[in-house]
Amino acid sequence: MSHIDIEAAVNVGYQAAKATSGGQNANYIPFLASVPSDLLGVAVVTTSGEVFKVGDADYQFAIESISKVFTLALVMEAIGPVAVREKIGADPTGLPFNSVIALELHNGKPLSPLVNAGAIATASLVPGNDADAIWAAIKDAQSRFAGRTIALSPDVNSSEQATNFHNRAIAWLLYSAGACYSDPMQAVDVYTRQCSTLVSTIDLAMMGATLASGGVNPVTGTRVIKAANVAPILAEMMMEGLYTASGDWAYTVGLPGKSGVGGGILAVVPGKLAIAAFSPPLDPVGNSVRGQVAVAKVAEQLGLNLFRPA
Ligand code: GLN
Repeated sequence: MSHIDIEAAVNVGYQAAKATSGGQNANYIPFLASVPSDLLGVAVVTTSGEVFKVGDADYQFAIESISKVFTLALVMEAIGPVAVREKIGADPTGLPFNSVIALELHNGKPLSPLVNAGAIATASLVPGNDADAIWAAIKDAQSRFAGRTIALSPDVNSSEQATNFHNRAIAWLLYSAGACYSDPMQAVDVYTRQCSTLVSTIDLAMMGATLASGGVNPVTGTRVIKAANVAPILAEMMMEGLYTASGDWAYTVGLPGKSGVGGGILAVVPGKLAIAAFSPPLDPVGNSVRGQVAVAKVAEQLGLNLFRPA
């Protein structure tokens, strides 16, 4: 895979996404409804730290559910993969990302850290004495993955905090089942903040490249997490990263991925690179319509399906 190959693939992915239409910005979070729908960015970062980008790849948008991966990484470091699997789980829910029914069906166990219930439970497991200390640790983890200081958007955060009643209900259900390990409203507060940071498509690709390179940020050289904790994180992404479309994604693209309702999407190719895209309009599952096309196309161009070795 040469420079020229990757550059060409990123351009083909961008063009394929540009030729795709459909979807709608998330509208249950007022801020997200107001982001210009035609923004489109695509980026690749390799494990040697090379950056390839096209379109609006520098535009900063709300990370939303992609943050779940990095809080999971923090908790994986704190309690280890055995406890993560036991307390949260490693299976797809087969239900929407904010499902309450999924909890009812499994005695309150969220099954995956990449749906809202599991992510709130994950946030409740981050070590720290109070919400601000826990939040500082999460923000620091996002920053170390990205190799730069990631910051909260007060606008996104207040928009979400004012409307996150459903997530609060989920937290109380978790708590009543013994599956929330801190004050439930503190867990939702921290979870909501982690969703409200701003990242660019390049940041996302860099965060993914840190996973691709076994937990070391390829540009700063900082070890962010233990190499042993990367595989279980990628397994969680493969199972639930695109919610109820995760199976379709595995079938067609063959890479661990993660989407967010801000329009971001990330796929990780272990040992090689990460691909990220951003485009706000979502399909009914909550995945970026154009983002999926862009990432899938780049992966296809470069022959990166893990189940189809070159
Ligand atoms: N903050 C959003 C929520 O909790 C994140 C959802 C997502 O990106 N799928 O609903």
